[in-house]
Amino acid sequence: MKKQWQEITQSIKEIYGNKEFVPLHEPTFDKKEIEYVTDCIETGWVSSVGKYVDELEKRLAEFTGVKRAVAVGNGTAALHIAMKIAGVQANDEVFMPALTFIATANAASYLQAVPHFVDVSKETLGIDPAMLEDHIREIGEMKDGQLINKQTGRVIRAVVPMHTFGHPVDIDALLDVCERYGLVLVEDAAESLGSYYKGQHTGGFGLFGALSFNGNKIMTTGGGGAILTNDEKLAAYAKHITTTAKIPHRWEYRHDEIGFNYRMPNINAALGCAQLEKLNEFVAQKRQLTKVYQALFEQIDGVELFTEPAFGTSNYWLQTIIIDPAKHNRDEVLDVLNQGGAMARPIWTPMDELLPFKDCPKGDLSVTNELNKRVINIPSSPFTRGE
Ligand SMILES: *Cc1c(COP(=O)(O)O)cnc(C)c1O
Repeated sequence: MKKQWQEITQSIKEIYGNKEFVPLHEPTFDKKEIEYVTDCIETGWVSSVGKYVDELEKRLAEFTGVKRAVAVGNGTAALHIAMKIAGVQANDEVFMPALTFIATANAASYLQAVPHFVDVSKETLGIDPAMLEDHIREIGEMKDGQLINKQTGRVIRAVVPMHTFGHPVDIDALLDVCERYGLVLVEDAAESLGSYYKGQHTGGFGLFGALSFNGNKIMTTGGGGAILTNDEKLAAYAKHITTTAKIPHRWEYRHDEIGFNYRMPNINAALGCAQLEKLNEFVAQKRQLTKVYQALFEQIDGVELFTEPAFGTSNYWLQTIIIDPAKHNRDEVLDVLNQGGAMARPIWTPMDELLPFKDCPKGDLSVTNELNKRVINIPSSPFTRGE
């Protein structure tokens, strides 16, 4: 087995032009980034005000097909504010997948709400709407139009699905569950910029969507994020409270509530504008890489390359293999790949196993726990062979 994975490691490195070390995901920059960032430095507009923030917000809304995008400091901040404005309050519960990056659960916790972890589907790696509904039937009851968790007595306010590694979840089925149980939908679209569900961009289906432009995401602003919404009023409010809730005035400092300093600096937005111009190209390159990996793993017994669900078009942000644990040992695979210079990572530890969330309510997590032993991410930077 070791020899086989050493060969796979070599094949992966070949794809990336035989580099000594191939990272999981690295950003791609060219002259545009230098031009826009230099413009910020030369004009002095590097901080919290500037034309690139407005421009990035405009272009993001256009790209994702929503009415408004509000740029913020990072994806976690976007989720925090999206859930807050969606009405998530202290002591509410929020359904979310157990298989996610910790930001989803952290953001709910900032509001003193309680994450309620549910299982994922093998087809999407995201929330399984049918299993969610089964779970609701088991633990929930409707009271005055609100879903109550019978076991904890708390209101369950929202569902926050996450489009894992760029693969869209079954949004229509989820919206249907939301409607029947009075739940608000907020999409964690941090990984799915450039991914579509039935032809419509992810992040625009719920009341809010949250994007991330962290250094490892499909496009980066260094650090950054955005709140997406089709509600102009809520967008204006999101902008207001993420910019210290200051009432516009030529000189007075008046703030009408406790706001947040969650702004994206102009210099980061400049980087974002340059990256967004290349986003379609990044997606095309990643989809090309999927084909190359498919050919590689087709020949390997007990390894499958994960591909997009039938109803969606994925950005393939992180390439994903699913191993058969009877034939391959996860930690051994990780060891050989990383040792050989092809960076690989397991999927996240399920949230319910993490110390801060160990006492949170949860449904049956059998698929989550199975996938945890089987899912590995492999080098995914935009395809570069032949360059
Ligand atoms: C990256 C990411 C976020 C946001 O992360 P930030 O580092 O705060 O920008 C949120 N949720 C998921 C699932 C992510 O992958």
